Formats: sequence, structure tokens, C-alpha cells
Amino acid sequence: MSDTYNIGLGNNDTDTRIKADSDFVSFWNDQAKNLTWFSPWNETLDWQPPFAKWFVGGTINASHNALDVHQDSKSEKPAILWEGENGDSRILTYGQILTEVQKFSNILKSLGVEKGDRVTLYLPMIPELPIAMLACARIGATHTVIFSGFSATSIRDRVDDSKSKVIVTADGGYRRGKIVKLKEVVDEAIEDFDFVKNVVVVERTKNEIPMTCKDKLWNDLMNDASDNCPAEKLDSAHPLYILYTSGTTGKPKGVLHGTGGYLTHLYSTFKWAFDIKDSDVFFCTADIGWVTGHSYVVYAPLLHGATEIMYEGAPDFPDASRMWDILQKYKATIFYTTPTALRMFMKFGDDIPNSFDLSTLRLLGTVGEPINPEVWRWYFKTIGKEKCPIIDTWWQTETGGMLISPLPGLETIPLKPGSGTLPIPGVNITVVDENGKDVEPNTKGYLVVKNPWPGMLLTLWGDDEKYKTVYWSKYENCYYPGDYALKDADGYLWLLGRADDVLKVAGHRIGTAELESCIVSHDDVAESAACGIPDEVKGEVIIAFVVLKEGINTETKVLEKELVEKIRTDIGAIATPKQIYFVSKLPKTRSGKIMRRLLKAIGNNEKIGDVSTLEDGAAVIEVQTAFDEIQKSIKESN
Ligand code: ATP
Ligand code: MG
Repeated sequence: MSDTYNIGLGNNDTDTRIKADSDFVSFWNDQAKNLTWFSPWNETLDWQPPFAKWFVGGTINASHNALDVHQDSKSEKPAILWEGENGDSRILTYGQILTEVQKFSNILKSLGVEKGDRVTLYLPMIPELPIAMLACARIGATHTVIFSGFSATSIRDRVDDSKSKVIVTADGGYRRGKIVKLKEVVDEAIEDFDFVKNVVVVERTKNEIPMTCKDKLWNDLMNDASDNCPAEKLDSAHPLYILYTSGTTGKPKGVLHGTGGYLTHLYSTFKWAFDIKDSDVFFCTADIGWVTGHSYVVYAPLLHGATEIMYEGAPDFPDASRMWDILQKYKATIFYTTPTALRMFMKFGDDIPNSFDLSTLRLLGTVGEPINPEVWRWYFKTIGKEKCPIIDTWWQTETGGMLISPLPGLETIPLKPGSGTLPIPGVNITVVDENGKDVEPNTKGYLVVKNPWPGMLLTLWGDDEKYKTVYWSKYENCYYPGDYALKDADGYLWLLGRADDVLKVAGHRIGTAELESCIVSHDDVAESAACGIPDEVKGEVIIAFVVLKEGINTETKVLEKELVEKIRTDIGAIATPKQIYFVSKLPKTRSGKIMRRLLKAIGNNEKIGDVSTLEDGAAVIEVQTAFDEIQKSIKESN
């Protein structure tokens, strides 16, 4: 039995779910009216499986809904409270952002960018990034943001795939006090790409940069640009952006999102999940290079005219107190981060957050990976002081916005640490077996979405066939996200990790998330990753990697014994790892997710494939060494 927490924000709207359950199409039809449209749609949903078009015939503009609509009442209101890694800060109001966006829209046009063209944005977390995105949206260009930690090869692949006419980058970006020379990376990436006509360079770090005839300085262009550029009236299904997934399970996929449906999804989920109020100070720590940054740093908060914090640098720079310092400085009321970041903060102990005033917080959230109940409870007690609901939001780059989450802005339901609770209204989610039949409560199966939803991807860029096979071929007319889940007796959903991460031991299937959560609930453990390696007798045996909290000196033999006992009691002897290996770090993607496919590949002696999204190569070497030792000892013991 899981512990439950009866904590909410006093909202109890039952009507919304009733309406959504009775007819999801007319429900979303009503939700779309929260946005400003240039002309109304004549069909709410055109569903030609697996292709969905929402609000057909309607015309709309994302930049107009994020900026212009607030000018009468909020032009002086801060939209972005920007905090530089080095302590610089900037406040940008709704009025100022609109001016900058109109100027940059005119610049893009003057560089020959037309409606439907792609523009690559390879920028650090500085205000020019959302400005450039909104400028693209304003003129109907499709933006493709590439996380500023990527190498030249990764950029080359993505720019080539999207055939971007213009690239916007910076001279450099700050990361842990050092300058990352972004412009040089771009130069290398686009060598001999004739289709790239211009590179616009924002000067952030003022390091010297080589300039070619294609290059233009952001400031030079902005100084001469007109600040009047009306928003283009775009078809609801007009492609707003391409974004490549994290690459946790394979080669990144170019996910294509539209406009009207996507914005409707964001508007509604932001209100329901975060209970957003005019007085809130919202802080989402995600980099805009990932979907969370697109949806819940750029579009959703601005659609609501909210005030938000945007932070440029590493979460633990110059030290582990940086996040708490920012929350205190800006009197943040809502904090949205990842389990990986929380595990890191937890590793440094309670004294650091306890020395800051976090009393303005009223709501906490997480996204990106399953959150271990242990970490959830720490977040609830140490950061939220037992007064803030936590929303564990499940979604993907492909879904555009949240699909499963507690919704304190809509209703008050008991929270269970580690469960995303219920699907959002208007989305039909269930858990099925291999044959597509609903499983019994408390039985592990595959998560599926049974109807289209407004934030759903349009397709994979330039590859409709792949879109069909990856998401729509496992079950007929059902979207397959590739995650394991179970529904408990209360109908709450528990996400159990990637379906391709599952461990198969002696005929049993054990979710990696389940085992890792159990290991992390040991007091000395900060993080863990489990995977299976082939075994002649059992088919597969489990290997677990463990990172300890700061300052733990317990002998590993003792810890190993304790962990094994814990696994035996909590899950069962079947889940006992063949070996537990203590390492200092785990291989993670740049978005902070543990890359289990890499562990698996090393364990299976396979080629490790595309690792361009990896955060730190050293972790791979450490894990590889560990595996070699394990392989050797397995051979010796046979
Ligand atoms: P790729 O698709 O290239 O392998 P990725 O799946 O890591 O990359 P994202 O779209 O950023 O790229 O991540 C979505 C995935 O993250 C989900 O499918 C799920 O596995 C995981 N996830 C996100 N939020 C949660 C959550 N709250 N609980 C559990 N898992 C989550
Ligand atoms: Mg994915």
C-alpha cells in the first residue's frame, strides 16, 4: 500500500471531467475558445488515423496569443525574470518582448525567410532564444531549436534534416563558469551547406569569433529593424516547430508540432496543473532545447500572461544552493523540475535548502522520468514544507503537453508518491497487454492512448512511414508511447519505465524503474540504474549500478548486503541483482535521463550506437569497465 497525501489547492471542479468524458471532441472544441483566433474553425477534429488535424479552417498565430493579446492589460508586467549563470539579470516585460519579437520577425523576413521555411536556433538559455522562437512563429517559419550542449556532428545532422535557411546562435554560452564557443561549433557543423544562407550571432560572452560573409550580428540587425510586424494568420495545423527527442531509446526523432491544437493543449494543461494566477512567479528549470522548455517555459506561461523565471546555467553552479537561491531571490511560487535534479539536490543533504526562505512556494512539479517515492517524499517535506502539492507530470516530446498529472488547478485528489495519478480530461489512456486487452488493476502492461489529443505530434519530419510504425503499428488506432505502466485499484497510473528497458529474469518481467526505486530508497543511495545482461541459464541476469550520496563511507560489501536484503523484502528474490556495482556517475542524456540502452548495449557486447545526446562520456568508460569486470567474474564462476 502506498502512502497518500490529501493536499490540494481548494479547487473542486467536477464539471470539466464530466464534459470531457461525455464527448472529448466537443470538450476540446470549448477549450480552444480560450485562445484568440483570427477566424473560427469549421471542423473540430479531422481524424484520418493516424493523422489528426485540429480546428480545421481556423486561423491563429502562437506569437499573437503569447504577446499581442496581453498588451492592453499587461504590457508593463514582467514576462521573463532572467538570471544569468554569472549573476547577470534582466527583466523583460510583455511590452518589451513584443517589440523585440516584431523587430526580429522583420529581420528574418529581410534575410529571405518565408512562411513554411525552417530556422535553426542553437542558443544558450538567454531571452533571445524565446524571442527568436516567437519571431519565427509570428511569420509562420518553423523553428527547430537544438540544445546548446550539442556537438557539431549533432547539429549537422539536424540542420541537414530540416534544411534550415537561417541559423541563430551566440558567440558563446556560459556553462559552469566556462565559455562554450557556440559560433565555432556552428561553423564546423554547416561547412559546405549551401542551403544555409545566413547565421545570426547574439553576443553573449564577447569572446572573439571568426565572421564569414554569411554572418550577421544580432545587435547590428536589431538596431536598424522596424518594430512593426503584424502576426501572420496561419492555418491551425501550420507547423510551429520540429524538435528532436532526447535519444534515450535510439536515434533522435524529428517530432513535428502544429499550432492551434498544440496551443489549446498547453493553455488548458497549464491552468489545470499549475493553477496559474496573475500573481504567480513560475520557475521551470528545463532547458528550452527540450520539449519541456518549448511547452512550459516558452508557450504555456506566455499564453497565460504569467511571470516566470528563466535561468541560464547549470543547476549546481557555483554550488548546490543555486536553485534555492533563485527561488528565494524571485519569491517563486511554483517550481517545476526533474527527478534527476532532485536526486542530485537530495544527495547534498537538507541543510542547504533549509538555509533558504522557500515559504513563497505553493506548488511543486516534476517531469522526465519516474520519480522514486523516496525522492517525492523528500521534495514534499524538505522543499515544499508539507504544504505544496506535487504534480508528477507524464508526457513526451511527441505528446506536446502533459497527458497524465495531478491537476490541483482543477480538482483536489489524494496524491500518491510515484504516481502521476489520472489522465488529463479529454484524453483516454489505459494499460493493455501484448494483445491490446485491458489488464487487471495492479498488473503491469503497456500504456496506450486511445484517442487523438490536441497537442499530438503531426508526424515525424519528412517521414510519415516511420511515424506510423513507431507509434501506431503495435496496436490498431492506438497511440503507443513505449512506456510500461500499471493502473492501481483507484485507477491511478504508475509509470514503470521504458518498455524496452524491461528486465526478463527466468520468465519474469521486472521494470527497471521498480528495482531502481527500491535501491534509491536506501538512505545512502543517491541514484541507481539497472539493466539485464545475457545469462545462459536464466536468460538474463540483473546488474545494478549505484551512486552513493555525498560523504557516505560505509563499506561497499556491507551496503551490497543491505541492498540485496531490501530488494528481497520489497520486490522478491527474483529481482536480486547478480552484481551491484558502485560508480561515481551514470551515463545520462543531456536532458538528464539515465541512458539504459547504453548500459544494455555494453552488457550485450553490442555497438553503443548514437551517443550524441550523452552528457558525460566519462560515465560510459566507468560503466564499461564495470561490465568488463562483471563479465570476467561471471566467466570465472562458471
Ligand atoms: P527518445 O524518444 O529519443 O528515446 P526520450 O523518450 O527520452 O527520447 P522525451 O520525449 O524527452 O525523449 O521523453 C519522454 C519520456 O520520458 C517518456 O516516454 C517517459 O519514458 C519519460 N517520462 C517523462 N515524464 C515522466 C514521468 N512523469 N514519469 C515517468 N516517466 C516519464
Ligand atoms: Mg521517447
